[in-house]
Amino acid sequence: MAENKIIIVGGGIGGLAAALALLRRGIDVEVCEQSSQLKEAGAGLQVGANGTRVLYALGLEQALAEVCVMPTARELRHWRTGETWNWFELGETSARRFGTPHLMLHRGDLHAALLNAVKSLKPDAIALNQSCVAVSQTAELAEVRFQDDTRATAPFVIGADGIHSTVRAVLFGPSTPQFTGCVAWRGLIPISRLPDHLHRTVGITWLGPRGFVLHYPVRRGELMNFVSVVERDDWQVESWVVAGTTGELASDFAGWHADVQTLIGSIETPYKWALMVRGPMEMWSKGRITLLGDACHPTLPFLGQGAVMAIEDAYILAACIEKYFNDPVKAFARYEEIRRERTANVVRRAEENRAMAFEPRLADERAVADVVAMDWLNVRRRERLDWLYNYDATSIPI
Ligand SMILES: Cc1cc2nc3c(=O)[nH]c(=O)nc-3n(C[C@H](O)[C@H](O)[C@H](O)COP(=O)(O)OP(=O)(O)OC[C@H]3O[C@@H](n4cnc5c(N)ncnc54)[C@H](O)[C@@H]3O)c2cc1C
Repeated sequence: MAENKIIIVGGGIGGLAAALALLRRGIDVEVCEQSSQLKEAGAGLQVGANGTRVLYALGLEQALAEVCVMPTARELRHWRTGETWNWFELGETSARRFGTPHLMLHRGDLHAALLNAVKSLKPDAIALNQSCVAVSQTAELAEVRFQDDTRATAPFVIGADGIHSTVRAVLFGPSTPQFTGCVAWRGLIPISRLPDHLHRTVGITWLGPRGFVLHYPVRRGELMNFVSVVERDDWQVESWVVAGTTGELASDFAGWHADVQTLIGSIETPYKWALMVRGPMEMWSKGRITLLGDACHPTLPFLGQGAVMAIEDAYILAACIEKYFNDPVKAFARYEEIRRERTANVVRRAEENRAMAFEPRLADERAVADVVAMDWLNVRRRERLDWLYNYDATSIPI
């Protein structure tokens, strides 16, 4: 590989967003992805206004409009009775307020939009079957070594290799994740399999004992994304690709409302993921090598912001590299300075949301309305989310 390219290890959402942001600034990249083909897990993703702001700045507005769902609202429901509360408005109201909309997407559709945009600027930007096993550097260059013992050198290397990052492990040693005691389930359901009253363009969170269920439509409304989290201590594998059974999922939500049972019964293959936490990193760059996204600040899914943080990172990192192209240490120091507090806040607030979702009183059917009123509706919601959605990664001075 030519030595003036920036190497990005990992072609997930964060890696492709970084490639696109750099190419748009006229900076050459090579994305090295371990998989033999590029595809994303079959699951949904919420992208808040802070994420769409960046994606639109990267030229993806039209591509996303073709595949997204713009939900009108988020609702809360009682796990047993099905009583419903309006939680907050989305749709046009939210788009007007924050400037860009809150979208619900199939992860594969977002990934494909990023991939097409990268390829339109550089058709051969992505190298497959390139599993990074080590990184090293001299004063002049960084080097990436792959499983087949080939090597590539570059002035900058970005580790966008996700929660089990090899680049992070080489630079900073292995991380020590702690199991949260929670297991997340996810699945997709063709919307045609569901009764009409479950076709609505809203995101619905069911609150109940020892867990919650969230579902929202994706892919132009053709699929319903299902995600649930339950307190369990018998499963500790942190992976998107481990299948469970609908029977096991149903037993985690036994006694919940008929709509929840209908959703669970309509999932072909549910997947389970043990939720782990890692302590925040004070810094995540060394010399010519840095990290982004889950590789440096994985976050629990209780705020729906993990991928969005990777997208914000990517935009700002590209701007820092452009400005300090001859000084990687300065570029990465500025990138970390801009991102440290923001990402730590998101990690912390996601953790706080976990406590709210697992409030023990939700197990008492008669207490749910009180908990909803106290914890979910009676907070100053505007202020609670403004800091998150108003953040504009595209206009931060570098
Ligand atoms: C249940 C659940 C629900 C979620 N919901 C949301 C949501 O609604 N909104 C949101 O914003 N976020 C959500 N997230 C978080 C989001 O999925 C992650 O934060 C996001 O995928 C991180 O992107 P990334 O690019 O950093 O890493 P990844 O998406 O993990 O990509 C890493 C890439 O690197 C490749 N790779 C790994 N190791 C190597 C190697 N050694 N060499 C080469 N390539 C390598 C991988 O194959 C992969 O392609 C959710 C997470 C979970 C678990």
